[in-house]
Amino acid sequence: MQHFPIFMAVAGRRIVLSGGGDAAMAKLRLLMKTEAHLTVIAAQIAPEIHRWAAAGKLRVIPRAMDHGDAICAALFYAANEDAAEDARVAAIAHAEGALVNIVDNLADSQFITPAIVDRDPVTIAIGTEGAAPVLARAIKADLETRLPQSLGVLARIGKTFRRAAEVLPMGRKRRDFWADFYFNAGPKAFDDKGAAGVLPALETLIDTHATATRTAGHVDLVGAGPGDPELLTLKARRALDKADVVIHDRLVTPEILELARREAVIIDAGKEGFGASMAQADIDALIVEHAARGAHVVRLKAGDPTVFGRLDEEIAALETAGIPYAIIPGITAASAAVATIGQSLTKRGRNSAVRLITGHDTRGYADHDWRALAQPGEVAAIYMGKKSARFIQGRLLMHGADPATPVTIIENVSRADQRIIATTLAEMEPTMTQANLTGPAITFYGLAPRDAATQSLKLREFA
Ligand code: SAH
Repeated sequence: MQHFPIFMAVAGRRIVLSGGGDAAMAKLRLLMKTEAHLTVIAAQIAPEIHRWAAAGKLRVIPRAMDHGDAICAALFYAANEDAAEDARVAAIAHAEGALVNIVDNLADSQFITPAIVDRDPVTIAIGTEGAAPVLARAIKADLETRLPQSLGVLARIGKTFRRAAEVLPMGRKRRDFWADFYFNAGPKAFDDKGAAGVLPALETLIDTHATATRTAGHVDLVGAGPGDPELLTLKARRALDKADVVIHDRLVTPEILELARREAVIIDAGKEGFGASMAQADIDALIVEHAARGAHVVRLKAGDPTVFGRLDEEIAALETAGIPYAIIPGITAASAAVATIGQSLTKRGRNSAVRLITGHDTRGYADHDWRALAQPGEVAAIYMGKKSARFIQGRLLMHGADPATPVTIIENVSRADQRIIATTLAEMEPTMTQANLTGPAITFYGLAPRDAATQSLKLREFA
């Protein structure tokens, strides 16, 4: 091998050509495929070359080449079709440091230009070291018909997809995927829908290969906290980064969903209190279905998944289906809410226990140990307590609770539209109804906001 084939970086670099006739044009047609800066120097220049110059594809210097013309050129072509003139300009270019090619003069050339099959970024160079140009042209013609025109487009789109393909284990699995793309699914999608069809086909293809690869999926049962994305745990963040599918509750905020991996499928399984928009059994089935197909499912629940989250039903479904899962805790509404009113859930000398209670359960308004709750100093955080407020107030008063016991309602905890409403057990209703609560709200029985000044302000705003 007298010539070693390499691909030279020419983007942004100078290539100078001396000559303005047919030989020059043949070389320029190839050179114009590159991103190099082309300069053509000759006393006689064909009109076609002038048109290319006018179109901004190259620069023309309409005179014979002189010293200094090839400075900083990476490549130089002598294409004057005149041996004496070619020798003269080649000597100049050589002295100025360019690699020199003299058209049709193999012996005096430092490099030769191969026959090229162009499916950019796939480029095939065919060289015969000048021995058999006919053979080179025949091979080129053969490859041109054999390689689909779409090959370049496929390679370019494939390149942007290399990172995504890393979900497949290195080695055979990944190679099989690429082979399937270049020789089967890719050309087919291009033929059916053109370049626009290629990326969607690639996405479907990787899903198919990924599903075939993974033995089983995984489910993270994740607490999303009360709404502020900064109240997410790092584990929750990481789970969202990796999710293929996110199945979330109604109370999970858009700001948090925004953090899910861009490619993740987001499913709203929102359930309203009283009257479900999606039955729990359907949600269970949905989680299992996606995980069984190999997806990493993030089941995203408001607050902490273990607090009034119907977590156990979902766990039972996963265990039945044999799907591995993990529970990632979150900040429950009571924790976030008590922080916003500057209080503690428990306090030495006041309450050594705190109850998290629900206003209603599967049978309607939920019953609790009202007599115990009515004792002085008791604290309860009431979830889902808007509709049941009058019922709870009545039960507590009936069991002897002090009507002056503080009651604080916090709506939209940790969100921009958070409201704090401080009242007493006696006033709990109609205060709550009048407050016209539209967002999720948690009610503290037995706690008043620490900062009374802020409080009266909030109350005035609300009144
Ligand atoms: N798992 C959740 C509770 C789900 S039950 C948690 O740990 O917080 C739904 C109830 O939670 C709502 O009715 C409301 O009482 C309370 N809640 C959830 N998010 C809230 C928020 N941002 N502000 C106030 N209350 C909230």
